[in-house]
Amino acid sequence: MANQEDQFKKIIAHAKEYGFVFQSSEIYDGLSAVYDYGQNGAELKRNIREYWWKAMVQMHENIVGIDSAIFMHPLIWKASGHVDAFNDPMIDNKDSKKRYRADVLVEDHIAKLEAKISKEVEKAAKRFGEAFDEQQFRETNPRVLENLKKIEEIKNRLYPAMDQNDMEGIKKLIEDLEIVDPISGSKNWTDVRQFNLMFSTQMGSTAEGASNIYLRPETAQGIFVNFLNVQKTGRMKIPFGIAQTGKAFRNEIVARQFIFRMREFEQMEMQFFVRPGTEMEWFRYWKEARMKWHTNTGIPSVKYRFHDHEKLAHYANAATDIEFDFPMGFKELEGIHSRTDFDLGAHEKLSGKKLRFFDSETNESYVPYVVETSIGLDRMFLAMLSNAYTEEKLEDGSERIVMKLPAFLAPTKIAIFPLTKKDGLPEKAREIMDELKMDFMCFYEEKDTIGKRYRRHDAIGTPYCITIDHQTLEDNTVTIRERDTMNQERVPVSSIASIVSENLKVTW
Ligand code: ATP
Repeated sequence: MANQEDQFKKIIAHAKEYGFVFQSSEIYDGLSAVYDYGQNGAELKRNIREYWWKAMVQMHENIVGIDSAIFMHPLIWKASGHVDAFNDPMIDNKDSKKRYRADVLVEDHIAKLEAKISKEVEKAAKRFGEAFDEQQFRETNPRVLENLKKIEEIKNRLYPAMDQNDMEGIKKLIEDLEIVDPISGSKNWTDVRQFNLMFSTQMGSTAEGASNIYLRPETAQGIFVNFLNVQKTGRMKIPFGIAQTGKAFRNEIVARQFIFRMREFEQMEMQFFVRPGTEMEWFRYWKEARMKWHTNTGIPSVKYRFHDHEKLAHYANAATDIEFDFPMGFKELEGIHSRTDFDLGAHEKLSGKKLRFFDSETNESYVPYVVETSIGLDRMFLAMLSNAYTEEKLEDGSERIVMKLPAFLAPTKIAIFPLTKKDGLPEKAREIMDELKMDFMCFYEEKDTIGKRYRRHDAIGTPYCITIDHQTLEDNTVTIRERDTMNQERVPVSSIASIVSENLKVTW
């Protein structure tokens, strides 16, 4: 655990030192859970966004992208349920003065019981060796059974309490389980209160005429309310999808863990409109397609897992999370939800406008069902960053930090180094850079030794460094050095573009 925390701290420090992520408003001591992306972070983020857009929009003839406004009519958030139900139960500890999500305290308690079970299983597996039958052990071992029973009982109290807004019930559960403040160890809790996560502001210039509006807590509603506009103008036929990326805002109660949980963040969402009754088929399709999008980056599949929801929102008939093995363990990275006709139906009712599709195949008109895929761009960024961060001991005993980012996502693709600052080498290097920079993000550097320049680019994940030396002036060849293997090869200038492009390809 301590090791994981150390690792996470190192990644956060590295992200700052190398211009990936800065605390927002740092010179004023920062703003809690708000972050800025620096020169390298902005590039990495842009590349991830583009990878998503290509996979979802460019690669699917029946998916189109839009860009809706952050401000929307306040009734949209009434219809979607956010005004009444986008709440988290919060609780304060009177001694530590820390605020927690009450349901998360209980979920963490469940996780501890689950960890106990895993430990028992591990111990037994060691003891019995080859003969170990895990399923039988789980079904018969008294300590495992006892913990499973406890978990079941807790869930049977937590979920109904959450559904019924029973704040007293959640408080009682925390007391009965003797949950303590993870920081102070104190059990001195306040009552549990509901807290709405939407930020609101005023639109209009005079106090009387101004109306209260919200900063969108998700991008999806901008898609739902444009469903008919896009369907008609794009002559879309069901099944079809609408995608968009953009900022979302949530006044999170507990916003720790760096860019994992922010108050201002970016989402990449796609709503896929289907004929009612076919949604499960499409849910399975998108589960597989989205997992493929993740593993196609070259990151091993053991880093990902599905977590199917046991407890479904009242409007959903299936939901799963794609979890990633972050430095703090497996956590939600993306959600895939089958949302039935809940959103379009609710907007039909409240707006009084028909939001239907006439299906010429079945000759009927209906409110489509929706399967959505929703991923946080910042969380994906954190996944990429934490997976890439590598401390390596080299053969000569020295160490390097290398960001093993998938090459196509790297902020800079080619670093261009003249060996020295004289003899016409900088001019030649600039000439080569001019040829490449339209197609690749390049970075020119002539300061320090080549070794130091390599290290700096390892630290930001640049897949290729090119050195221009005296021989280049004679035969138009350069040394190209690959980040992960550190292999260096002499190649003609004319082949640089094809070597680099070959490695930037993503398999679909
Ligand atoms: P969580 O349970 O972690 O709060 P959620 O289930 O509320 O997330 P959704 O509403 O399904 O999340 O949003 C879809 C995606 O948006 C999430 O999978 C996550 O990647 C991202 N996301 C949600 N909240 C935040 C946040 N506060 N900061 C960064 N990303 C977020």
